[in-house]
Amino acid sequence: SPTAGARSLQALPAATARLLSSTQVITSVFSVVKELVENSLDAHATSVDVKLESFGFDRIVVSDNGSGISRVDAEYMAQRHYTSKLSHQADLDSLETYGFRGEALGSLCAVADVTVTTKTAADDFSMMYTLDRQGKVTCSKPAHLGQGTTITVTNLFKNVPVRRQYYSAPKRRKEELKRVEDVMMALGVIKPDVRFSLIHNKCTVWQKNKSVDHRTALLNVLGTGTMSLLQGVEHSSLEPQVEVQGFLPKPGADPQAVTRATTDRSFVYFNERPVQMKGVEKLVRQYYHGSTSDGASSRHPIIFLSIRVPPAEIDPNVEPNKTKVLLHNNEGHTTMYDLVGNKPVKKPQSAYSFFIK
Ligand code: ADP
Ligand code: MG
Repeated sequence: SPTAGARSLQALPAATARLLSSTQVITSVFSVVKELVENSLDAHATSVDVKLESFGFDRIVVSDNGSGISRVDAEYMAQRHYTSKLSHQADLDSLETYGFRGEALGSLCAVADVTVTTKTAADDFSMMYTLDRQGKVTCSKPAHLGQGTTITVTNLFKNVPVRRQYYSAPKRRKEELKRVEDVMMALGVIKPDVRFSLIHNKCTVWQKNKSVDHRTALLNVLGTGTMSLLQGVEHSSLEPQVEVQGFLPKPGADPQAVTRATTDRSFVYFNERPVQMKGVEKLVRQYYHGSTSDGASSRHPIIFLSIRVPPAEIDPNVEPNKTKVLLHNNEGHTTMYDLVGNKPVKKPQSAYSFFIK
């Protein structure tokens, strides 16, 4: 038992506290790619290339042609809680960007070696910055890239041996690559006008050109056969305020052909954030199959649903790695929409979680 008078509660050393919270934000190669690609999209890139070596554990490179980072901002880009996207708490109610906490780059630096090469429209040439574990710029030198930002990540989790070990299993590495592909596809479909590529060990895993609309982007991912089994749906209402655009299986379509054993073609978004929403899948299933207890219920419908609500109704900050969003309204309950029948289905819970992919 503790000696009387000896204090057993101690503050964690700063570096330990930092590492612990960073590994909650950067959980895997998947979360590195997701955070970096979302940054590229926030910077209005129209082209994003992701290159992985050894499933990302040797190297991850994300390049974009977005706005770039100015020389005065570069010093702060990986400082904890520095962000260009949110300046007042009230701005959370009008958030249009994926990022807002200023944590990804700082957290990434805590668990990997990171360099950032960037050029804005105002710069004559790009600069390459090397960052240390605290996210401080330790070295900067001129480089030869065009406008935009290229972030290179090596030695991921070198200082978190248990996590590195966990991801040494070939099976887990392959699963990670699949998750990377899935999240890029999900972002690629919701951002039709952005070109994407995912390259692993010099082989193209997935790529998409700029498309004119969601339909074309979806066609790229699903192929003409599956796409011909889907029909466009649209819904909007003012009270409550919601706008939905999507593609759902046509009535009477062969259930096997419009469902999958996995959720990787169930594209659901809240304000362009890819989410996994069991409730919506269930509604779609009930509508098309009349029941959820038959064999089809273990399969997932192939759908695309882009749902827009006022940003104030969404809380994307439920978890450190932003893998859930909470949808709320001021009546204290959450509303779900029966898209097909056009009538809202009220859920009595005070909160309903949607799992971001
Ligand atoms: P957040 O996205 O929440 O702001 P991050 O740590 O992901 O936090 O990024 C910190 C800042 O660095 C961003 O607010 C942005 O100003 C800048 N930044 C990061 N990546 C890019 C990029 N690819 N292009 C332009 N600016 C970027
Ligand atoms: Mg970010």
